[in-house]
Amino acid sequence: MKSKDNKIKRRWLAPFLAALVLAAGALLWVKMEGEVPHIRMEPDIRAVGLRTKMTLSVADAKSGIARVKVEILKNGKAHPLFDETLSGTGAFFKPGVQEKTFSVWIEPKKLGLSDGKATLRMVARDHSWRHWFHGNTGYLEKEVTVDTHAPRIAVLSQFHYLNQGGTGLVVYRLDEPCPKTGVTVGDHFFPGHPNHGGDPLIHVAFFALDYRQGPGTAIAIRASDEAGNTTRVGFPYHIKAKRFRKDVIALSDTFLKRILPRFESDIKDSRKLSLIERFLSVNRGLRKKNYQEVVQVTAHSDEKRLWDGVFLRLPNSERRAGFADHRDYVYKGKKVDEQVHLGIDLAAIAHAPVPAANAGRVAFAGPLGIYGQTLLIDHGLGVFSMYSHLSSISVQAGQTVKRGEIVAHTGDTGLAGGDHLHFSMVVHDTFVNPVEWWDPSWIQKRIAAKLKGTESG
Ligand SMILES: [Zn+2]
Repeated sequence: MKSKDNKIKRRWLAPFLAALVLAAGALLWVKMEGEVPHIRMEPDIRAVGLRTKMTLSVADAKSGIARVKVEILKNGKAHPLFDETLSGTGAFFKPGVQEKTFSVWIEPKKLGLSDGKATLRMVARDHSWRHWFHGNTGYLEKEVTVDTHAPRIAVLSQFHYLNQGGTGLVVYRLDEPCPKTGVTVGDHFFPGHPNHGGDPLIHVAFFALDYRQGPGTAIAIRASDEAGNTTRVGFPYHIKAKRFRKDVIALSDTFLKRILPRFESDIKDSRKLSLIERFLSVNRGLRKKNYQEVVQVTAHSDEKRLWDGVFLRLPNSERRAGFADHRDYVYKGKKVDEQVHLGIDLAAIAHAPVPAANAGRVAFAGPLGIYGQTLLIDHGLGVFSMYSHLSSISVQAGQTVKRGEIVAHTGDTGLAGGDHLHFSMVVHDTFVNPVEWWDPSWIQKRIAAKLKGTESG
């Protein structure tokens, strides 16, 4: 009996041991993997400022991340910045954390680092059993410049007299190149443009107050260097309050029936809506969408000033509606909507030739919702002129135009009751009063004299 038991045991033992050896072998095969953790720095940092955040993504697909270390090397000395050990090696055959993003703050002054060249060293280890359980090690090194000096801003232009809904210009000098600089007006930002008078450190910034921004609006110049050090300075300015006109637009069924078929494809569930509901969808929703389309175009402007002198107004024309007119829309005796008119309506003869207000490059030419056939000309440094409700356009996007060159003809396309030109001026992302740009004395005093007087610094 005893020998029979042993026989049974032996019969079971051999395959069991074989399976065990196989499993151990498989585990060893998995755990002894030789793939090195991968480190990526995102975004790439080239300079370290007073307080700089670096972000690194570490990936290790096979056994998972075990430890991540970051240090900064300066003048032969290593300063630790970050050290994290990750637990959770996973189950036998499962890896630990395969991918993780780490954020590390670098503050050179706290570390006692002086400005100058340094090296960021990032080290990541995995849970592999290789190298006597130390795992595989991945390295990434980056040369950086430590720069704890904030940019200095010197304002060169004087007499900043501004109007609510108007345009301003400031000229300033930086003491180092800055990838991000410009003027903040409330919560708007207007980029500054370098190379004024050929000097890469002298910047010109056109900025705007929208029709709601009156006295009390905060305006400052801002500059951030490559290391992210930021300086903000104020400058003397005076904002004159403006009151804009009020207007009432009576909507008739005849007008709505005539105009709404133009926007059929822009109105959602058009068939379910009444005449006035369809109009409101255009006057509110489409108007907003078209504004977004305009500021998408005006976000990119030529780094050079392409224009000179006063801007041209449509010849032999009469003003019909003004800038920032507040419009109440009345239907069947009741107010149904209100909007602000951000251009000037000029009426001449039907299909009147439209000259380019100044020299520039065509930034947009084509249909634009409520504005109808529209033309936008980039005059450089963030200044644009806009022509709407045109019957025809004779230039194409990308083409350069001269001041006074005939670029289009007036019409009544889009949301227009009759033939006229809707003319707007846009500074970066803000519609401004065109009247200033048509005024030779304003151009001379507020723009030309400032640009000339600051050229040599
Ligand atoms: Zn208009």
